[in-house]
Amino acid sequence: MTKLDLLRSANFINGEWVPAASGASFEVTNPATGEIIGTAPNGGAADARRAIDAASAAFPAWRAKTAAERANLLRRLHDLILAHQDELALLLTREQGKPLAEAKGEVGMSAAYILWFAEEARRVYGDIIPSPWPDRRLLVTKQPVGVVGAITPWNFPSSMLARKIGPALAAGCTIVAKPAAQTPYSALAYGVLAEAAGIPKGVLNIVTGDAKQIGGELTSSSKVAKISFTGSTAVGKLLLRQGAETVKKMSMELGGNAPFLIFDDADLERAVSGAVAAKFRNAGQTCVCTNRFYVQAGIYDSFLEEFDAAVAALRVGNGSEEGTQIGPLIDSSALAKVEDLVGDAREHGGRIVRGGERHTAGENFYAPTIIAEASTRMRLAREEIFGPVAPIFRFDTEDEAIAAANNTEYGLACYFYTQDLARAFRVSEALDYGIVGVNDGLVTTEVAPFGGFKESGVGREGSRYGIEDYLEIKYVSLGGL
Ligand code: NAP
Repeated sequence: MTKLDLLRSANFINGEWVPAASGASFEVTNPATGEIIGTAPNGGAADARRAIDAASAAFPAWRAKTAAERANLLRRLHDLILAHQDELALLLTREQGKPLAEAKGEVGMSAAYILWFAEEARRVYGDIIPSPWPDRRLLVTKQPVGVVGAITPWNFPSSMLARKIGPALAAGCTIVAKPAAQTPYSALAYGVLAEAAGIPKGVLNIVTGDAKQIGGELTSSSKVAKISFTGSTAVGKLLLRQGAETVKKMSMELGGNAPFLIFDDADLERAVSGAVAAKFRNAGQTCVCTNRFYVQAGIYDSFLEEFDAAVAALRVGNGSEEGTQIGPLIDSSALAKVEDLVGDAREHGGRIVRGGERHTAGENFYAPTIIAEASTRMRLAREEIFGPVAPIFRFDTEDEAIAAANNTEYGLACYFYTQDLARAFRVSEALDYGIVGVNDGLVTTEVAPFGGFKESGVGREGSRYGIEDYLEIKYVSLGGL
């Protein structure tokens, strides 16, 4: 197969590669080196409107295709992603910084989401309801909501978009996507792949540029039926408010403050490897990354010792170098936030066991850090750290641990380690979270529902539930029979 040219510096609107209407562009840099990779269009309201018009025009023909036709095109997209997995991973690492092995894993997840929803396209079933009247039949069908506006973050620039493109296209919706400014290339690459897969023009549109303007158009346009957003809770709330005027359907995958509980009866070795995976993936920049470790008093010291040894072995460096396990933070403001939070923890009695400073690998690197004797007086007990910093709190009783874990406005992912079966059920039922890892630190898969309680979001992505967010339910009463 001839390889596609995946690096694009133009917007993808109605099947064409176009510059921003204003002609302006912005630079994209490699966070590991500061090198300028290229530019992307600085689109605005006019570009968003053009993309919305294209998606709206493409909708009737796309929804009219059979589910099998849509599924086949999505399968082709899946195949093309896998055929370009190495190239896409390199691009992802260059713009985002994560280790190449993680980038490859993310691209594989993107393909898995597209394939999953290709399969789900054929299973959008309705119902026939037993009628309370002898002369009527009551039918329930499902149909696509319409044009979807998708806004995605920089931490998983490929898979967060796959989670939206997959169910939207499978359901029969068309889409206008706006990726994060730091990572436009992994998103624009979907335009190249969609084109090659034969997905009709206007079905998938990608616009980079001014977030406020593009978000403003997407949330206010009467042609857009739904917004699917992944990002911070603050921006999610803003979009919910903006979309209220036109009563947009909303899917929100927002921030987290994941607790990780280790009980005295945990398998220590498993807990340590789960803790490393749940904390340090993507340099701690995932919405399901552990933000707070709670360790029971009887196992606290031995956990700390083993965890420290495991963290000491992590290799920090440029993600494109073989063997790197922790790359840079996304930019200097992310680094400044992590420094602030560690400084605040220090002032409030935190004991730095390891790290606690920048790393010499480059300007945006922070050393893997462990802070013992963490307490609720520290800001990192409440705020998303989004960096390689592990605060370790101490607890005595199960009730105390559950109360502490639930003491947050977030409710995305949580984890706990125990070998007691009764406790495994008791605690997983008591935790107010959409995702619970019991003796498991890596929980994401396309076959399971991903999403949060409380201010962590609305709706679910992946699994058989994921497509429902893109469907309207229609009830038809057939009378006079
Ligand atoms: P962010 O600042 O909220 O940005 C996310 C996206 O929203 C970007 O594309 C951004 O565009 C855009 N945006 C910013 N302001 C906007 C506005 N006024 N109107 C419309 N769009 C706007 O979040 P982030 O810092 O990139 O990502 C990290 C956050 O995402 C964390 O809180 C993390 O927990 C969350 N997250 C959640 C999940 C989940 O599934 N629950 C998954 C991954 C990440 P620009 O880049 O152009 O500003």
